[in-house]
Amino acid sequence: MADEREGIKVAAAAKPHLAADQPLLRIDGAVKDFGAFRAVDGVSLDIGAGEFFALLGPSGCGKTTLLRMLAGFEAPDQGRILLGGNDIAQALPHERPINMMFQSYALFPHLSVRDNIAFGLRRAGMARGDIAARVAEMVALVKLEGMEKRKPDQLSGGQRQRVALARALARRPQLLLLDEPLAALDKKLRESTQAELMELQRRLGMTFIIVTHDQEEAMTMATRIGVMDAGKLVQVATPRQLYEAPRSRWIAQFVGDINLFEGELQSYDGHRLTIVTRDAGPLVVVEPRVPVGKAKLSVAIRPEKVKLSRRESGGHADQGPAINRLEGTVSDVCYLGGSTTYTVKLDAGGTVQSAIANTVRRDADAYGVNQRVVAWFTSNDCVVLEQ
Ligand code: ATP
Repeated sequence: MADEREGIKVAAAAKPHLAADQPLLRIDGAVKDFGAFRAVDGVSLDIGAGEFFALLGPSGCGKTTLLRMLAGFEAPDQGRILLGGNDIAQALPHERPINMMFQSYALFPHLSVRDNIAFGLRRAGMARGDIAARVAEMVALVKLEGMEKRKPDQLSGGQRQRVALARALARRPQLLLLDEPLAALDKKLRESTQAELMELQRRLGMTFIIVTHDQEEAMTMATRIGVMDAGKLVQVATPRQLYEAPRSRWIAQFVGDINLFEGELQSYDGHRLTIVTRDAGPLVVVEPRVPVGKAKLSVAIRPEKVKLSRRESGGHADQGPAINRLEGTVSDVCYLGGSTTYTVKLDAGGTVQSAIANTVRRDADAYGVNQRVVAWFTSNDCVVLEQ
């Protein structure tokens, strides 16, 4: 077993036996009620071995409850949870090859770093020598050498987070659940820890499910994201799909900033839709299919895809895909360092936001308040949302 002390071999030891197309985890119609309140409402989801999956959603949407069902701290009222094809409903938390790292870290304050990490191994009845070797391996993995004897209150927030991670990884779970693991860290430490977590997950080849309400964190770390709203899983997609092709207005607004223009379908030529919007006039969108629900449509465009030109210059030359041109006046300028967000009050009545990267060092923003501009974007860069 000596070779198991190398990080790479840990992954080999932890890998479950799965058929090629079999998910590691299958959640099948999971429901959880607290009295009359439905916290998790019919969630079905497959997660493959080796995935870094993020559950994203606003506070109270049921993310933690779903995670607690996977860990065995809550029992589903309906539905099944299968790990490697086996229903784990009857398995107690410590019997599951799943570990959970809590938001609060839940470290034992009276135990040293070493004993905190060893706790679960002792409970599992591992031999003393093996525990010492495993703890040393975990300490090295999370770079806490030399701190083994310290108590949690003698550590920084980032170091406590690493102890919690080492403790959660020590039993080599097939699946690691992380509930807002970086919430207690400041921005810089969060970013470096995100990178470390991703590297660790890749090295160990383990499956991680992270719960977060921070969309940037989910986008940075996860290979796929599941968005939850009011107990329901409303979209599961890669970060890019989620951002570029959100399924609904709610998701589009929850993930990043977006301009939305409500309107009605005027025409469809098999390739492009023309939608007459109340606040921005007719807009053209490239869309391979005609929307099913024709009643209330929205044209959605991300601020960084909206360009600005001075009105005098006549906007953008006509070439390539159809250009949507919206005339208006700059009403607000917000300098953010790397980019500036301009709010344009449109002559048609609405407003549009344009985020422009500050690629050149200069003393002032490119456009000032009251500047007449044309806000423009191509028909490829916007999408139509039906709900
Ligand atoms: P946050 O991001 O704030 O942690 P969350 O998405 O993780 O939120 P949950 O903790 O899963 O949300 O809670 C979902 C809903 O279920 C909330 O409205 C919460 O008040 C409720 N809830 C959670 N646990 C219980 C419980 N034991 N009894 C009653 N209601 C509960």
